[in-house]
Amino acid sequence: MSAETTNYLQLVADSFTGYGNYLLREVLHPSWGSYFYWLVAISLGFWVLELVWPWRRDQGAFRKDFWLDVFYMFFNYFLFSLILYNALSNVFVQLFKDGLGLVGIQNLVAVEIGDWPLWARLLTLFVVRDFIQWNVHRLLHRVDWLWAFHQVHHSVEEMGFAAHLRYHPVETVVYRLFEYLPLALIGFGLTDFFLVHLFTLSVGHFNHANLYAPLGPLKYVFNNPQTHLWHHAQELPRARRNGVNFALTLTVWDYLFGTAYVPTEQADLPLGWPGVAQYPATFVAQQLEPFSQLKPKKAAAPLPERARARAAGATPQPAEE
Ligand SMILES: [Zn+2]
Ligand SMILES: [Zn+2]
Repeated sequence: MSAETTNYLQLVADSFTGYGNYLLREVLHPSWGSYFYWLVAISLGFWVLELVWPWRRDQGAFRKDFWLDVFYMFFNYFLFSLILYNALSNVFVQLFKDGLGLVGIQNLVAVEIGDWPLWARLLTLFVVRDFIQWNVHRLLHRVDWLWAFHQVHHSVEEMGFAAHLRYHPVETVVYRLFEYLPLALIGFGLTDFFLVHLFTLSVGHFNHANLYAPLGPLKYVFNNPQTHLWHHAQELPRARRNGVNFALTLTVWDYLFGTAYVPTEQADLPLGWPGVAQYPATFVAQQLEPFSQLKPKKAAAPLPERARARAAGATPQPAEE
């Protein structure tokens, strides 16, 4: 085994032990800097709000798939993002830097923002990252194999705050791959934005929550439940069949680029796609489903517009990619 391979393996091992210890510390020692307890606190906060002021009044406290989504929350946000994925991305970043070193590039930072005030750094990080994520989200809807993975998130039939983090971990990999290079160019590490993380986590919980809070004029800036529900709508008009409201945190991009669509504030929109009831219902089955759709023999998962066209009896249109 070459010295380099040993180094990479060591990096994986160190990352696992490092984050394993980190996980233990987070859970055993509650503190203001603990992701774990912030996730618990923010989630409980939105759950209480949903119970006190529900938008859909007939939706139970433990709506359909509540516990499945709670499991996804901890798996995706905590276990996968912080532990498993970090081990892999440490190796990726090292490989990337080693590769750059081979061609004589030692430092990737093109814009030095280390001297800026903290608020300006955080704001820049947040806005740049949100715009990248908006683009990646559009890609998840447009490319067949990416849609197969993103479909896990769209399999939510009853919406609530916890649905925010129901997604396939492959999505994390895709988002981070697209985020890494631009953020590295402006001198950000992927680990140093705790506050931005907590803010986007809260807005994400908010826009999936069973709450009526359309935000007035602020709806042009921030995502909200009345806007995001249309992103999950089962039926959209033909002209909108490529999807609407791709915002994660900022709705600005949808309004700027013409993908914003909130015709009514409709609480009981049917969600998902026409065949959503047949989608696998358990965590493990949902993890495997996208891979089974990648097999060439079986037809790819229908993009929402194709499914809609089929349901309407029309000839499916080729995807616009
Ligand atoms: Zn989506
Ligand atoms: Zn969503």
